[in-house]
Amino acid sequence: MSKTGRAVMEAVRAQDSGFDPPDTDARVRTIWIWQLLFAAVVAIIVVAGYSLDPAVLGIPPLVIGVLGVFATTIVALVVPWGRLPEAAATSLPYLDIVWVGLLTFSTELRLSHLWVFPITWLASQFSLARLVAGVGVVGLITLIEVLVNETSAASALRVLIAVLALTFVGIAVHATARQGRAYRTLLRRQSRRIRHTLDTVSAEQRRVRDMLDAVNIGIAQVSDTGELLSSNAAYRSLYAIDESEPSRPPRSIEYDSLRGSALRAAQGTYSRAARGEEFENESVWLFDADGRWHALSVATRRQPPVTGDQPSTMLIAEDVTEVIAAGKRRDALAAVVSHELRNPLTAILGHTDRLLDEGTFDGPTRRRLRVIEEASERMMRLVDAMLSTRSDEITLADRDARSLTDLREILDASLESFAVTAAEHGVRVHYDGEGSLPLWADAFRLRQLVDNLIGNAIKYTPSGGAVHVSGRIDGEDIVLSVRDTGIGIPAGDLDRVFEPYFRSSTAVDSAIPGTGLGLGIVRHIVDAHGGRIEISSEPGAGTDVTVRIPMEAT
Ligand code: ADP
Repeated sequence: MSKTGRAVMEAVRAQDSGFDPPDTDARVRTIWIWQLLFAAVVAIIVVAGYSLDPAVLGIPPLVIGVLGVFATTIVALVVPWGRLPEAAATSLPYLDIVWVGLLTFSTELRLSHLWVFPITWLASQFSLARLVAGVGVVGLITLIEVLVNETSAASALRVLIAVLALTFVGIAVHATARQGRAYRTLLRRQSRRIRHTLDTVSAEQRRVRDMLDAVNIGIAQVSDTGELLSSNAAYRSLYAIDESEPSRPPRSIEYDSLRGSALRAAQGTYSRAARGEEFENESVWLFDADGRWHALSVATRRQPPVTGDQPSTMLIAEDVTEVIAAGKRRDALAAVVSHELRNPLTAILGHTDRLLDEGTFDGPTRRRLRVIEEASERMMRLVDAMLSTRSDEITLADRDARSLTDLREILDASLESFAVTAAEHGVRVHYDGEGSLPLWADAFRLRQLVDNLIGNAIKYTPSGGAVHVSGRIDGEDIVLSVRDTGIGIPAGDLDRVFEPYFRSSTAVDSAIPGTGLGLGIVRHIVDAHGGRIEISSEPGAGTDVTVRIPMEAT
């Protein structure tokens, strides 16, 4: 069976099971058409018969039959068939069969042919059972007529042939009509499916458009012929594009730098996207229609052509004006702060130097003065680095500054400088490990790393707790571990402690001051030395930070 054949069979089954609701208006129209057509034919025959022989109107069964047909027609026109069950309308062709029986009764006119009308009606609009019942009624009436009129055997045979012919016509019409209806059902169903698919696609498109309009990154799709295929609200607003006239040139103008030179159309990001160029993080300044400057970071992505579509390029423009401004503000602030730090630092350094030079103090006091002097010098170097570089340029381990360094010495110096703080905190600090930990490293940054880890361990450990520092050689690496019995870090925060300005909930809840910058700097220094850092922790039990750095410079 062909595909269409199968679909039609399915439609027939669906129709039989009442899957497709019938169209009531169409049903009422069909009833009217059939009944009016039949009444018109009867009227013509009666008029013709009367004009040939006025006596025909004197035959009572014929008159009753004609009146019956007209009365049935009036009923057909006034009854609200739409509100009645479908089967109710079957009564009309049955009545017509009876009226035709009366018309044929005791007349010479061969009006029995008129049965073709109600039988065809039954065959085309109703079930096979009703058709068979209709033909049965015809057979019954003709049988009665044969018996009543005592017709000859030849006439009886003619009647039988007429009934058989009617049966044949009825079945043929029924089969054709059934298939026609099935095709209609199939078409209706398919058109419903197409409508549903279209609705789904447009709803999907609407959702995607709403989503794209909700993001504040400008997105546009540009065809290889330079046509703006689509754009989101952020792109249209940045480039001052009128949604109703997307082909008009944008009113915002691209510049190569802030207040620099305007880009020629061919150099602009749009033309480059139209040429299919692919680029990332291109900086462009945009002067918008309201006279405001925007710093944009623009990128493109090639779009593979979807069937029937032309190739295109996605243009993504992110407004980074605020980010740049924030960076500048941070740099300016850092410059001011570090500049202001220089003055008190100079005083501390100067006076410590004087005290050491005077030689008034010796023993432990002199050692402490040295610690103060060294710490102040380190701070001065950091301040100088901040003053001479922008925030994004500070290097956290200078390759040229690497030399053979002993981490053990750095640890000792750091532990000595934290001794007083630890004692004030009531925290015991131990070192266990090897006597010498040689490696190629930037000693200044390594000290910064060690200070941050030991400083954190002491800071986040409540009084009575302990900090264990250990250093050992493991194969090619130096492994430094700083373990404490402090407040710990919740598991969910562990991944984030290296993010700038992040502080774990335990630290915030305990109101321990900090900036959230130290561990990020530590990680940078470790990375720059080709090492690794791991942190494990349990809230309330303590934290263990392990740093592994190759001894040979990488
Ligand atoms: P901060 O200046 O806040 O100490 P860090 O970058 O050094 O900044 O650390 C980031 C966060 O990691 C801290 O705020 C703290 O929540 C957590 N943290 C770091 N070290 C420890 C530690 N030894 N014990 C508990 N929490 C720690």
